[in-house]
Amino acid sequence: MSFVPELEKVLGVSLITDPDITSSYSKDQAPFAPFAPAKAVLLARSTEEVSKALAFCSEHKIPVVTRGAGSGLSGGANADADSLVISLEKMNSIIEIDPANQWAKVQAGVINLDLDTAVKEFGMAYLPDPASRDWSTLGGNVATNAGGMCCVKYGVTSHHVRALKVVLSTGEIIEVGKATKKFVTTLDLMHLFIGSEGTLGIVTEITVNIVPRPKSPATLIATFPNITQAASASTELLKYRPSMLEIIDQTTLKAVEKWHPLGFEVAGSILLMQLDENFELGDAAVATCQSHGMIDGMFTTEASEAADLIRVRKLAYPALERLGATLLDDVALPVTKIAEFVGKVEHLAKKYDLTIGIFGHAGDGNMHPTIVHDHGDVEGEKRAKSAFAEIVGVAQELGGSASGEHGIGSIKRGLVKDEVSQSVIDIQRGIKQLLDPSGILNPGKKLP
Ligand SMILES: Cc1cc2nc3c(=O)[nH]c(=O)nc-3n(C[C@H](O)[C@H](O)[C@H](O)COP(=O)(O)OP(=O)(O)OC[C@H]3O[C@@H](n4cnc5c(N)ncnc54)[C@H](O)[C@@H]3O)c2cc1C
Repeated sequence: MSFVPELEKVLGVSLITDPDITSSYSKDQAPFAPFAPAKAVLLARSTEEVSKALAFCSEHKIPVVTRGAGSGLSGGANADADSLVISLEKMNSIIEIDPANQWAKVQAGVINLDLDTAVKEFGMAYLPDPASRDWSTLGGNVATNAGGMCCVKYGVTSHHVRALKVVLSTGEIIEVGKATKKFVTTLDLMHLFIGSEGTLGIVTEITVNIVPRPKSPATLIATFPNITQAASASTELLKYRPSMLEIIDQTTLKAVEKWHPLGFEVAGSILLMQLDENFELGDAAVATCQSHGMIDGMFTTEASEAADLIRVRKLAYPALERLGATLLDDVALPVTKIAEFVGKVEHLAKKYDLTIGIFGHAGDGNMHPTIVHDHGDVEGEKRAKSAFAEIVGVAQELGGSASGEHGIGSIKRGLVKDEVSQSVIDIQRGIKQLLDPSGILNPGKKLP
């Protein structure tokens, strides 16, 4: 029998059960992660409501999938037919902004960019900048430990979180971390929840760092004959403390040129760097690029020119999407291994007869090989999935990791085992058992 009427009675609200609607709340943006329309969706409006729902689901062993905006790329927010989806989209209030103590407290459904826009009024910024920041939620960002372009200088989401309110699977509400800048009073339980992809608890409130707004950045663009030279230049450019350092390979550049010719047809690779201070280092940065074989380069402090220069990076993924169906991979690498990684992925592109464009965050080694196959080509899709898994293996062989920022969700669960020891897997399982004894929170996700 459906749990819906009883849970509606407990909560005193209606759940969404129309399959046309539940299905849109039951999957994220990952193209091949399995999902089925959930039994019901709760648009939660308070921590107490989340708590009541979880207590009920624990008692009745109903699987629960937490949902932010569904912008995830690993199937993390995908549901199955027996589950309850708890969406945090209505919990979107900015609770308090404290510029003097440099923090802001929000409900988990607040959109990343909305917080940054609100704190701007005080001359402050919320720095973590996933490319999805105009629609992904802070709860989702915390649950995936989202990254972005600014990470090379400012780190990932976890570096910006001070405290969390979390509902455990039993319905118990706990607070971890502290609004103070420093806090070592307890074991660091807060960071256990960051990046846990909805498997340990539901985050309902978040206290984050806000900082004085950095200056509008200066931008360097440099073209190179090949990615080996661009990658070696990028490693050296780190000494200038860039606030952004991105790399694009030739396959991706060709896709951009085919769509929006920007004049990069002769380049084998491009580097884009931004500085949000010490603009006087621009000339030295150009000289560094020259010493690594730069073909052409330009450094500008003009915001409008900068917008033109970084356009090529913004077009990278959509340009590849125009070539066919895409599988966007995400791996973390030592920065010194980028060129070797690209060489091996190019080899995989030939082996599987696929187009694979590579771009990513050169400054922190987080690369996004994007595999393209023809829409509707079933064989091509199979080859793309094999290449997707092998790319992860290549990154792991080079001392890297299965995911840098998109998370494990369901699509990479099988690819993690060889990267971590059995002891680490067992400890994680123990933690899961302690925090979610009935195993209802996002089953089948994240943990190998
Ligand atoms: C075009 C595009 C660009 C992207 N660019 C980036 C990028 O630059 N960097 C990056 O890191 N990611 C990027 N992503 C991936 C995605 O936007 C991030 O993973 C984001 O953090 C997900 O937020 P969300 O609110 O959409 O969460 P969802 O997709 O809804 O959920 C993601 C995971 O978090 C869990 N979850 C959500 N909210 C909560 C909560 N309150 N409590 C507990 N668990 C929760 C879900 O169960 C799921 O496992 C991109 C995605 C797209 C489509």
